[in-house]
Amino acid sequence: CGIVGYIGNTDAKEILLRGLEKLEYRGYDSAGIAVLNEEGVHVFKEKGRIANLRESVDLSVEAPIGIGHTRWATHGKPSKVNSHPHQSTTSRFTLVHNGVIENYEQIKKQQLAGVTFVSDTDTEIIVQLVEKFVNEGMEVEAAFRQTLSDLKGSYAIALLDNENPETIYVGKNKSPLLVGLGEGFNVVASDAMAMLSQTDQYVELNDKEVVILTKDGYTILTLDGETVERAPYTAELDA
Ligand code: GLU
Repeated sequence: CGIVGYIGNTDAKEILLRGLEKLEYRGYDSAGIAVLNEEGVHVFKEKGRIANLRESVDLSVEAPIGIGHTRWATHGKPSKVNSHPHQSTTSRFTLVHNGVIENYEQIKKQQLAGVTFVSDTDTEIIVQLVEKFVNEGMEVEAAFRQTLSDLKGSYAIALLDNENPETIYVGKNKSPLLVGLGEGFNVVASDAMAMLSQTDQYVELNDKEVVILTKDGYTILTLDGETVERAPYTAELDA
């Protein structure tokens, strides 16, 4: 029931796992991470505690960018298949989502007829919709904004694109989400607890905003693609 993301210069796995452990208090029945390197995307997920996930992660895989999720199932029973990250049909896109998509059945029928789904979640339609728009010729950023515009419900989302290891696409509506800024890295998480050991510089996000996050910067956009200027603040929290 929370998400994390990291993009920077060091290996992402441990940072993601520690972040997820800090989010466990929000509730969980399964957890997963995805990391991206020159070989492509590597997904690890397991039912149960983060400790189970830890055991399944291949420590030889090194990657400077990744996303993670603790799940509290709302649609589809707790299982490995239903746990996040979820991927598009070609595996080009990988996504984590905290929240509930109210119109996922409609989107499945009206916009994704013919797509084969592997999970019972409301989440999987999001990553499939991004891929559909990209296949139709949209740039990834526009496809991401269009996808979020079509969703009804709550979400904190982080998306990876195999073809762009320089960027995490982030979106938020009615689920908590914060960006954290570091030197040579940036992070995103459902709450500051998951990032406290990394940084005390945060950028707040409003509903229906997306963030294009790189290791050196962030761009906030509305769902219509207009740039939003927002400065970071220093958090005064005890780690
Ligand atoms: N609705 C999604 C699911 O059931 C996300 C749940 C969550 O926020 O953990 O998989």
